[in-house]
Amino acid sequence: MKTLNLATYTSIKIGPVVDVQIITEPLHVEHFIIGGGNNLLVSSNPPKLAMLGKVFDFLHIKNSLLHIGGATPSGKILSYAKKHNIKNFELMQKLPGTLGGMIKMNAGLKEWEIFNHLIAIKTEYGWIEKKDIEFGYRHTNINGTIYEASFEIQNGFDNSLLEMFKNFRDNQPKLPSAGSCFKNPPNNFAGKLIDEAGLKGFKVGNMAFCETHANFLVNLGDGTFEEAMELIELAKKRVYETSGINLYLEIQVIKS
Ligand SMILES: Cc1cc2nc3c(=O)[nH]c(=O)nc-3n(C[C@H](O)[C@H](O)[C@H](O)COP(=O)(O)OP(=O)(O)OC[C@H]3O[C@@H](n4cnc5c(N)ncnc54)[C@H](O)[C@@H]3O)c2cc1C
Repeated sequence: MKTLNLATYTSIKIGPVVDVQIITEPLHVEHFIIGGGNNLLVSSNPPKLAMLGKVFDFLHIKNSLLHIGGATPSGKILSYAKKHNIKNFELMQKLPGTLGGMIKMNAGLKEWEIFNHLIAIKTEYGWIEKKDIEFGYRHTNINGTIYEASFEIQNGFDNSLLEMFKNFRDNQPKLPSAGSCFKNPPNNFAGKLIDEAGLKGFKVGNMAFCETHANFLVNLGDGTFEEAMELIELAKKRVYETSGINLYLEIQVIKS
């Protein structure tokens, strides 16, 4: 067990102090799994939580594949790929998360997604090949806990791609957030729809849709779960009224 203050641990800086179970073996876990907490909005009364221990923070090459542990942070994976001249991991530049969270969310940017070069994942049910996993834009149907994954190895780390991701992310808001609040609807942008619904910069208490990037729900300081949820519900309602489009959450709301 580890005591974790979610108001400092999560990127949006909201949540209670909780005891989190630390997983040290690849067994079935009943608790809700958290990774780096970069895509989470946690209520003051969450379900029981667990996270992977340090034993799942690793990278090694086996049978010509790159094996990465589920708890390995994106920055460490990126440094390894750069050092060993392996391409296809450039998208992790300033993409906060652990491998488990990135795979579960199929994290990425535009056409660069973590699933593109994935071979298989290891959960408590054993190794599962990519072809047996349903995945799409910020979505997978993965049920268990991701303990490890394997990727193809291609030489040629691309520094120009790294620069492109860096420039893109440097334009994202610096205030605490959980990344994009809503998924982009097909052929549209959630931020544009929130702006057109008159909610860009709109505040409830200390939470707001960012002035510069309307799809980022930002914490202005001591913002609460309730304030965040009020804004989320308001955006869904207003956007539907103004455009007829339903918005679906990208951030994961965790409550009992
Ligand atoms: C400033 C900022 C910018 C961002 N930009 C992007 C972006 O460009 N593209 C993008 O895709 N995302 C972006 N995000 C969101 C976030 O980086 C990703 O969703 C990332 O994958 C979250 O990883 P995590 O380890 O923090 O997971 P968490 O937030 O802790 O968890 C996310 C989900 O993954 C599940 N999960 C975590 N670990 C495991 C595991 N081992 N096994 C099974 N399930 C697990 C959790 O249960 C939860 O459902 C951004 C976030 C921030 C704060």
